[in-house]
Amino acid sequence: CFCQLTGQIDDCFCDIETLEKFNNEQVFPILSELVKQDFFRYYKVNLFKQCKYFDGDIGLCENESCGVKICAEEDIPVGLRNGNFNKPTYDESQASDTECTKRTTLGDINGTLSNVTMDVLDSWDKHDDTTYQFCDIDDESSTNLYYIDLLANPERYTGYKGPMAWRIWKAIYEENCFSPDTMTRNINPIFGNVPVGKSGKHVQISSSDLQGMCLEKRIFYRVISGLHTSINTHLSAEYLFEDGWGEQHWGPNLAEFQRRFDPQQTKQEGPVRLKNLYLTYLLELRALSKATSYFTSEDFVLFTGNKKKDKKTKEMLTSLLDHTKNFPMHFDEGLMFKDKNAKLLKKEFVDRFLNVTRIIDCVTCEKCRLWGKLQTKGLGTALKILFSEKEIDGDGKPFRLVRQEVVSLVNGFARLSKSIKYLDMFHKMHVEQDKER
Ligand code: FAD
Repeated sequence: CFCQLTGQIDDCFCDIETLEKFNNEQVFPILSELVKQDFFRYYKVNLFKQCKYFDGDIGLCENESCGVKICAEEDIPVGLRNGNFNKPTYDESQASDTECTKRTTLGDINGTLSNVTMDVLDSWDKHDDTTYQFCDIDDESSTNLYYIDLLANPERYTGYKGPMAWRIWKAIYEENCFSPDTMTRNINPIFGNVPVGKSGKHVQISSSDLQGMCLEKRIFYRVISGLHTSINTHLSAEYLFEDGWGEQHWGPNLAEFQRRFDPQQTKQEGPVRLKNLYLTYLLELRALSKATSYFTSEDFVLFTGNKKKDKKTKEMLTSLLDHTKNFPMHFDEGLMFKDKNAKLLKKEFVDRFLNVTRIIDCVTCEKCRLWGKLQTKGLGTALKILFSEKEIDGDGKPFRLVRQEVVSLVNGFARLSKSIKYLDMFHKMHVEQDKER
């Protein structure tokens, strides 16, 4: 099966077999339970930032499955509510089991994307040269934030596709990934001097273009592509089927997965894109492992207001981190940004990634925007941990993460972990299909 890849992962010292075994047997079982715990389950996010990328009508995803349901503040755990975060005084009388059962649809609250009040360019003043900000930070006290129960809003097929979705991917790859020098250079009115490719559906950078790029530029493209692979694997594994009576259910769609990744249907690009998923996974794995001493220190507050639950969550997180620390084939970030132009290149790397995260504000399917934001923020947090000059676990003044970054990193990594598990599922389905033929 094309989905059972083997051998070395490019740009890394790791082979696919070791990584799959490690993920499926050690990481996935813990991580899939960890993200169900309250601290990681409730995500506070601003889904109404202004789309600064496209002019005019940006279209809306009309499908019901594009919608996101939000929680009322009184329905989320007491320690996560406004003003309580980071103030761990346990008052057991308040720590009753809370469930976000009263849900409102996001669209009902703020109307459409184009007519809501925006908070603009809010985090430039927080910029610090030694701690790179790969994403805009919405800390717990920012405005326009809503609580989302991630378990009640799973990432799955929504029907968001066609030109609306393509232009997002196109803007990400063609205007914000580093491109081979042969591409036309135009001045982009919004983001300055970045390359602009030709129009059309298909992304212009192919795997053969990548060979001439330096390591940093190649890694940039490949981790974004890995994220794209993960999103498309999820929607193929949790695809929407309708029977003849209008009943709906979600389940794996092997044909959809094959359409996206089979080499014969993708001009040989499918397996390369699947391999990029492993790279993105390795990068986030390395970041988690690098941040272990921070996550297990007294400084890191994992607080929801329920002592028993918080203790359990901390134990699960510690167990996950023990596994990540012992992984023998980590991504080596020390090989990047080493030559004489390193500082400039790093700055460009950060700026381009920041643009990618902002393009997600233009995704017009709420559910896709939610998970797109979460996963790009998770990736941005991983990059911040790996490439900031100030070390997260360093001496002197190490940097700290806000809760939203931690929740994004752990949930984003859980998505990648699940995608790798799904590859195994599609492989088995493929074998069964062959037997039946
Ligand atoms: P697309 O996936 O739209 O890809 C466009 C082009 O990019 C392809 O033609 C190909 O040339 C290239 N390409 C494809 N995959 C890769 C890769 N891995 N690496 C490099 N190049 C690639 N849909 C849902 O149903 N549920 C979701 O939760 C969801 N979340 C999304 C989040 C974001 C941020 C975006 C932008 C889209 C999301 N979508 C989601 C839409 C989904 O990703 C696809 O865009 C859609 O299903 C249409 O797929 P497609 O086959 O036309 O190609």
